[in-house]
Amino acid sequence: MRPIRATVDLAALRANLGVIRMRAPGAKIWAVSKANAYGHGLARLAPALAGADGLALLEIEAAIALREQGNTQPVLMLEGFFGAAELESFSHHRIASVVHHEEQLRMLRAARLEHPLAVFLKFNSGMNRLGFDATGMRRALDALRGGRNVASVSLMTHFADADGAPGIVDALERFERATDGMNLPATLANSAALLRYPRTHRDWVRPGIALYGCSPFANETAAAIGLRPVMTLRSRLIAVREIAPGERVGYGGMYTAQRAMRVGVVACGYADGYPRHAPGTAERGTPVQVAGKRTRTVGRVSMDMLIVDLGAIPEAGVGSEVVLWGEGLSADEVAAAAGTVSYELLCALAPRVPVDLIDSGR
Ligand SMILES: *Cc1c(COP(=O)(O)O)cnc(C)c1O
Repeated sequence: MRPIRATVDLAALRANLGVIRMRAPGAKIWAVSKANAYGHGLARLAPALAGADGLALLEIEAAIALREQGNTQPVLMLEGFFGAAELESFSHHRIASVVHHEEQLRMLRAARLEHPLAVFLKFNSGMNRLGFDATGMRRALDALRGGRNVASVSLMTHFADADGAPGIVDALERFERATDGMNLPATLANSAALLRYPRTHRDWVRPGIALYGCSPFANETAAAIGLRPVMTLRSRLIAVREIAPGERVGYGGMYTAQRAMRVGVVACGYADGYPRHAPGTAERGTPVQVAGKRTRTVGRVSMDMLIVDLGAIPEAGVGSEVVLWGEGLSADEVAAAAGTVSYELLCALAPRVPVDLIDSGR
């Protein structure tokens, strides 16, 4: 069998949930588990996600599958319903919905539902993606209040800059001004906001990336926050060769050997979810761990393989273990080298990679 495998560790997820509870002690937790729990497999993680107060996702099929498996946790759909027909499923399965647009208000008003919905009314605090402006919020609240299809209304916003220098001050002020006097429960904070700005905690926090053990910040590592990687992607060397000075490596010869060197071929490529744009030039490689030691990629990532420098790891040979990301090498670091974010790496884990579910705490 091709040696690439991912492990997903339930104990790490439980531990991260514990860190989040400690950092946001008064708030309930929506475990953000969209995109198949950031690539980890929603069904797989369900036993550990049961420790959250609810699940936030945005694919209705995933929410219905949870219900059909007997899950009774609160579920919140972050983009709400996309059509009138879907509303019936929300109601039938008691799924809470974000409402961010006039069109949704219209559909909600027109529907005849089995059970009224818990609604999270979304404010646009400056991202300019989803949500009502201040006037729209007042009007939407008036429309929702007393509506036969509305069981409750909570308030929501999503910050554009919780992880960066601009921060959330302006966005939070806008939210507070727009919702002044409404006196409703609220959910504002993603991972970055909940870790950095305790005043955003309110009633519910919405961590995603922190749950999976990565850092939402460019300048603070997951380990420093106390988070453990849930997913580890491992493979092995399937070939080793010596190359002469001046020889090039991989498609297009992106890397040229400066001296005689030893390289290893790893059974992992972009069809496994490894980023093809990860650099492997003479100046800049992407970190990778071989036989427990850190080294770097050389040459372009191909569909099924990538190549690593074994110069400092003479003990490595065919069969040596390689960690692409996870335990021992943070996905954040690999992502930064590749000019992306860990979210993208985790979500991109390809279906062809077998996943072993483990529980290191048991
Ligand atoms: C994805 C998402 C989150 C989680 O964000 P992280 O940065 O992963 O913590 C929270 N809220 C909304 C609306 C989202 O779409």
